[in-house]
Amino acid sequence: MLTADRVVSGTDVLQLLARCRQGDRVATSRLLSLVSRGSQSDRALVSRELAAGEVPSAITLGITGPPGVGKSTLTSALIAELRGRDKRVGVIAVDPSSPVTGGAVLGDRIRMAAHGADPGVFVRSLSSDGHLGGLVRSASLAARVMGACGYDVVIIETVGVGQSEVDIAQIAETVMLVLAPGAGDSIQAQKAGVLEIADIYVVNKADLDGARATVADLREMLLLNRPSDGWRPSILQTVAGTGQGVADLVTALFSHHEACVSDGELAVRRHRRSLYETRSVIDAVLAEQLAGVDVGEAEDPYAAADASLRMLGRRLLDEGVGAVLG
Ligand code: GDP
Repeated sequence: MLTADRVVSGTDVLQLLARCRQGDRVATSRLLSLVSRGSQSDRALVSRELAAGEVPSAITLGITGPPGVGKSTLTSALIAELRGRDKRVGVIAVDPSSPVTGGAVLGDRIRMAAHGADPGVFVRSLSSDGHLGGLVRSASLAARVMGACGYDVVIIETVGVGQSEVDIAQIAETVMLVLAPGAGDSIQAQKAGVLEIADIYVVNKADLDGARATVADLREMLLLNRPSDGWRPSILQTVAGTGQGVADLVTALFSHHEACVSDGELAVRRHRRSLYETRSVIDAVLAEQLAGVDVGEAEDPYAAADASLRMLGRRLLDEGVGAVLG
């Protein structure tokens, strides 16, 4: 039976999923709320039904880049282009740094760009509860849920280029790094990290001076850092506000996806996402459980940690993971 604000069985989840697939936005919103705000056992239930069923999965695209380069504007332009190609689009707007308003603001900005009333677009914000593992976990499961709901492409947009954004972007199968002209210095500053994980590089604001120089900087950097085999990252220029270059961007996204399918990389990335999610669930469960453990007089923190972990271990053995997840 479905109760007002929680599901109680796998059947409830399946019913919700069936409604989502028929385009029921209330059901979709509810399912995603379970993922982002539900209990650990709610999430476990959703995950179990997704894993057990023959559910479709979306192409997931992670978009990252420094604030102000035009990611939100570009996301809206990508949505428009994808809708033009008859694709249903889910968006997960993630802000790890701002617990209160950030994620919501990011999501609203995309929603406001005229896609709010389109039944083929669903935008969901995730903001941080201060726990990065929780965010990675929620974003990854939310992306799977959107795939199962029949969205063809799921965009995971993050607000910056810190380590947490890199982690979040990595749960996507295609990673897009957006820069703007004059980003040369920040290219140097970022060094490894996100620059090494992107599959598609976008120099947005190509209407401004310096776009070509930024493209040249990127090209040089990629020649130095990239192996010569496998996917050669694309470097594209866009003007997000007018949509210029966005069709090529979508074509690059599909090309990258096809390349990943044919060389086996897609399976590798999906497996990696699964490992990320597994680890983030373990992290979150441990953090929750250990927060409740009485560590006693922690004069020797190592001994106290040892005792706490033993206590948790005994509980797991006695009561099983189910008790801990509940
Ligand atoms: P975000 O912080 O990366 O999400 O960036 P926004 O999408 O909020 O854009 C930041 C500012 O750049 C806004 O004022 C946009 O209107 C502007 N902007 C976005 N794309 C372009 C572009 O292609 N050219 C120019 N000139 N401005 C742009």
